[in-house]
Amino acid sequence: MSTDRIIFSRPFRAPGELANLEAVLASDHSHGDGQFTEAASAKLREITGARHALLTTSCTHALELAGLLLQLGPGDEVIVPSFGFTSTATSMAVRGATVVFADIDELGNLDPESVAAAVTPRTKAIVVIHYGGVGADMDRLLEIARSNGLEIIEDTAHGLGGSWRGQRLGTIGTAGTLSFHDTKNVHCGEGGALLLSDDILHARAEIIREKGTNRAHFLRGMVDKYSWQDIGSSYLPSELNAAVLDAQLAAFGEIQAARFRVWDAYAAALPGWAAANDVRLMHVPGDREHTAHLYYLRTPTERRRDDLIDHLRAQGISAPFHYVPLDSSPAGQKLGHTPNPCTRTAEFSSTLLRLPLWPALTDAQIQRVIDAVTSFTV
Ligand SMILES: *Cc1c(COP(=O)(O)O)cnc(C)c1O
Repeated sequence: MSTDRIIFSRPFRAPGELANLEAVLASDHSHGDGQFTEAASAKLREITGARHALLTTSCTHALELAGLLLQLGPGDEVIVPSFGFTSTATSMAVRGATVVFADIDELGNLDPESVAAAVTPRTKAIVVIHYGGVGADMDRLLEIARSNGLEIIEDTAHGLGGSWRGQRLGTIGTAGTLSFHDTKNVHCGEGGALLLSDDILHARAEIIREKGTNRAHFLRGMVDKYSWQDIGSSYLPSELNAAVLDAQLAAFGEIQAARFRVWDAYAAALPGWAAANDVRLMHVPGDREHTAHLYYLRTPTERRRDDLIDHLRAQGISAPFHYVPLDSSPAGQKLGHTPNPCTRTAEFSSTLLRLPLWPALTDAQIQRVIDAVTSFTV
């Protein structure tokens, strides 16, 4: 048996990356908002169906930009899933808003009932993560948001190209955010984007993103010089990042097909073993299209999860756990509060592991992972 290590994640190399980078370097223009930013934004609008897409330096910054845009600050409460990435919470806390942790459902997404129970007169927004690129229960979440006058921000770091009941992820709420960190399906090292449908919010977002100036108007020839208009920061990526991103987005179909090959192989091979061992496999309801961002298993106990991770590691396979609950983290305790216990978050966190999933995994490697998993008796 081959024993070369099978790592968990490996960034995709898109065919056009080097040519695009050379073009930027040769142009003497590598600061932001040049031709590759424009080209990549157009591809993002096409893939997501969003009316507006603004490239940012990260998903964390896109979330911060959304917080500035929606004027979230001290005294406001923002509901976030406890089972989530740090950025989802800290991007709100950095503006001085209080993060309120809610629990998740059986898909690992915000549980609408837990959200409804966390709403107070100070609640201003809900940040939804579509975990693993499987859409959250947006019907109920939109209903809660509407009846309480709340905004929904969709953290779509896992969800590029996914949909929920025909609506594309990241375009259902007021704002959607994407990540192009090199562990995500499409990457440029570090990067992100903010998706918006509202023209007025978009006009202000352009200014906040560009140090509070109307440089975007200047670039479009609408004013002959640009000036300080509003608060803002520097959230735009350089053309070097946009050049890599544009090449990756041009290969999006190829990336997704290669990732689905792996995901579908796991989903086809593991059910028998899972049923015999009381293991729950990642599940995608028929009314949503996922993104093959990750493939997870949930064991009956934390002990067996840790044993399975060890068993796989002994065979050279990396299969990490995922989020540590935010509500019990040191910053979560200091900067947030948790009106109701996040019990399913604790259970997901302690029993979940993810299998290697990246486009260039070979059939033999996929089979090795399947054989290693199914040789373990839970
Ligand atoms: C990766 C990730 C982020 C952060 O993305 P960056 O681009 O690294 O800032 C935020 N939320 C979720 C759910 C993520 O997976």
